[in-house]
Amino acid sequence: KPLLSKRGMLDTGIQGTTKTYYVPVERSEQIQRQRMQLPVYAEEQQIMEAITQNLVVVLSGETGSGKTTQVPQFLLEAGYGDSGSRNPGMIGITQPRRVAAVSMAHRVAEELGSHGHTVAHQVRFDTTVSSQTRIKFMTEGVLLRELTADLLLTKYSVIIADEAHERSLNTDILLGVLSRVVRLRQKLARECPDKHRELRLVIMSATLRVDDFAANERLFRTAPPIIRVQARQHPVRIHFSRRTPAYGDYVHEVVRKVSKIHRRLPEGGILVFLTGQAEITYVCKQLRELFSGAIEVEGPAQSQASALEASVEDEDVDVGDGGSDELGDDFAYDTDSGSESEEENTVIVGDAEDGARQLLLAENLRSEAPTATSPASGTLHVLPLYAMLAAEQQLRVFAAVPAGRRLCVVATNVAETSITIPGIRYVVDAGLVKEKAYNTQTLVQRFRVGWTSQAAAMQRAGRAGRTGPGHCYRLFSSAVFNDQFSAFSWPEVLRMPIEGVVLQMKTMGLDNIANFPFPTPPPREALARAELLLRWLGALDAAGHVTELGKLMAVFPVAPRFAKMLIVGQQHGCLAYVIMAVAALSVGDPFVREPCCDDAEGAGKSADLIKEPINQGDGGAEDTPEEQSTARRRFWQAQARLAGSEPTSDILKWLTVVGAVEYAGGSDAACSEHFVRPKAINEIRKLRQQLTALMQTYCPNAGAKMVQRMAPPSKTQQMVIRQIVLAGFVDQVAVRGDIAGYHASEDEAELRRRGLHAVPYMTMWSSEPVFIHPESVVYATARNSGSMPQAVVFAELQHSTRMWAKVATIVNSRWLATIGQPLCTFGNPLSFPRPEYNSTRDEMTCHVEPRFGPRSWPLAMVKV
Ligand code: ADP
Ligand code: MG
Repeated sequence: KPLLSKRGMLDTGIQGTTKTYYVPVERSEQIQRQRMQLPVYAEEQQIMEAITQNLVVVLSGETGSGKTTQVPQFLLEAGYGDSGSRNPGMIGITQPRRVAAVSMAHRVAEELGSHGHTVAHQVRFDTTVSSQTRIKFMTEGVLLRELTADLLLTKYSVIIADEAHERSLNTDILLGVLSRVVRLRQKLARECPDKHRELRLVIMSATLRVDDFAANERLFRTAPPIIRVQARQHPVRIHFSRRTPAYGDYVHEVVRKVSKIHRRLPEGGILVFLTGQAEITYVCKQLRELFSGAIEVEGPAQSQASALEASVEDEDVDVGDGGSDELGDDFAYDTDSGSESEEENTVIVGDAEDGARQLLLAENLRSEAPTATSPASGTLHVLPLYAMLAAEQQLRVFAAVPAGRRLCVVATNVAETSITIPGIRYVVDAGLVKEKAYNTQTLVQRFRVGWTSQAAAMQRAGRAGRTGPGHCYRLFSSAVFNDQFSAFSWPEVLRMPIEGVVLQMKTMGLDNIANFPFPTPPPREALARAELLLRWLGALDAAGHVTELGKLMAVFPVAPRFAKMLIVGQQHGCLAYVIMAVAALSVGDPFVREPCCDDAEGAGKSADLIKEPINQGDGGAEDTPEEQSTARRRFWQAQARLAGSEPTSDILKWLTVVGAVEYAGGSDAACSEHFVRPKAINEIRKLRQQLTALMQTYCPNAGAKMVQRMAPPSKTQQMVIRQIVLAGFVDQVAVRGDIAGYHASEDEAELRRRGLHAVPYMTMWSSEPVFIHPESVVYATARNSGSMPQAVVFAELQHSTRMWAKVATIVNSRWLATIGQPLCTFGNPLSFPRPEYNSTRDEMTCHVEPRFGPRSWPLAMVKV
């Protein structure tokens, strides 16, 4: 029951008009001034009343309005957060992204001044949590993991689920579980109030569709109140391009647009939205080259009003001397409009209905006269922002911009809602987003660069209106926006593999997954398939209950496949290697890529064209020049030296290279010498430490140890490691199509003459042939032996020009009979033309050479 204070006001910890707080915080004057400008700050009383009176509250407000930074502070001051306080238990805030969890924790600590030490963050590789912690920022994954150990979340008095509009897989699961935990704690608090307290849930979201979780009866029996914070959003003028650049040209178009803005428009930061690291690196480089020093720009004599208009109308922008060639004439457009103008029409968002405001804006913009010190005559302060960037570099976007320079941040969609960069006035939006898309039908996982949603594009535009009226330049036409953009982005639960969360839910005792209150339920087949995989991995029994093995697997913060590899990895002295392999696979490709052919991040079509090996004469991975980076040549040398055998696995390649870097001390210098990304190496190391510690706790007999300088695996160990990889990827075996009765078409016969890349493989889930990715080390062995391996397991399937099986490991098809036993039917090979999945029996039928009985297993056979 809400307490009433003496004056009859609801006791939210804020009493009367001169606010007094349970936890008085002293802040610097500057911080206090900044806070007072935030829309959320003005609503403190209303927000705290709602939280006091309701166990679940939805808070929706424009990005940058102060939700993430302010609400935890309100709660702290109102006496939440401390075991000795009125509301014992920490304040937990979940974020979908590590970047945001860390940077927001920093910011809140800074704002809290002397109470800063009570703020901590916990993300996968990094935690600052101590006994003093009252406000804990964490990723959703961290809280989900805590839930498996303590479903009641007894350490917390309130959980803030931030960025709920993003609909990440984890947010959805978290909201589903938390809706139940809140009810459970309420019940317990009623029954034994001296032992239990209620848990409060605050769901925070940008101003996007909130009904999926707010008005969702399966989630909350009575709909939680929605507080909408009106942000002071300045109008943003949206400029559509008349024509949409041809696919692949948007990168150049971005450079051109930024150059134009910088040279012609009044001061104000520029924020560019692109899709990935490779492009961002490229654009940053281009911009730095163009604007590195003092450049000659048009004199300020030109009237600003005309400059503004000209900026968007004039095609013939000439950027410096070198620039014009690159950025010049040869833009391809997708329409045949012959108009000179590149701009189509403009729309004003923000206070759009208010015609008077629009006029005012136009006036404002026109009246901004240029001065001789306009930043256009200075240089551009270009900063990249993407998830893979090292943390301290990410924080640079908040630092003061050097005097006389204009800030230009080139970002992925991290800057869309979770991070608000100060001082942005111009947004350049390519309109694209790169998402890891996963087809739940074919299980094909791919990075897909596609149009973002209309809602996301509006969010991006809104970034320009934080500090004053702004402009958003869209590199696509309004027709494309209207016809090809979906209204909202798809929730992740419909696009991602879900076996990990299914296992976690089962471990929490939520057995009936089909009835789980998903904000958006995944398709039933996807759930069924996840359960099936877990059964094959031995994590679930036939009845769908979690097994002891499954419980153990859930302890490790990695995908179930990888957890399985760790557990079977305790054989033949391989554990340290398996831990390293799992860490590397979880973190992802550690290799440095050439900009713009960055397939690791899937830079889209252009990358595919570069990588497509079929057109490269008589084939062989060797013949694709971009492929032959020094990193790979180094690997060959290392592999030959260390292993003394033919390369058999891309995972072993990763192991060799990561091992070599660590052997050399793991420094940044060692990384660059081996052409790997220091951030990846650091993360792999941290994950190894974490996995090793978990192994020591949960499998004490395995003797897990963290060794910096590991000897390379012996030949036997290499084979065992390959078998362990197979144990984790039992369902991702690709068998040579031609031996299994696949008839190559003439076309393919022709292709085969040209290169080994054309050899088709069959997998269990799809009738479409797959091909081993040209980057794979498998080809080196194949070139020597003259034939491709009969069977490989692959860690990833990527669809681009064709289905590429990536990160391949050669396996012996005989191993399948033991390691993949639940999936195998044993019989005459001729009657099983290709591995087949029988859905009624949940079995994969795969060809296993019948003359090899269980007696002739290779010496080191893994027990599964
Ligand atoms: P919301 O969660 O509603 O999107 P935030 O609480 O994240 O809003 O941000 C509120 C304000 O705090 C923004 O104007 C943002 O620019 C500012 N801010 C956030 N982090 C920092 C930082 N590290 N340094 C300076 N300002 C910051
Ligand atoms: Mg926020």
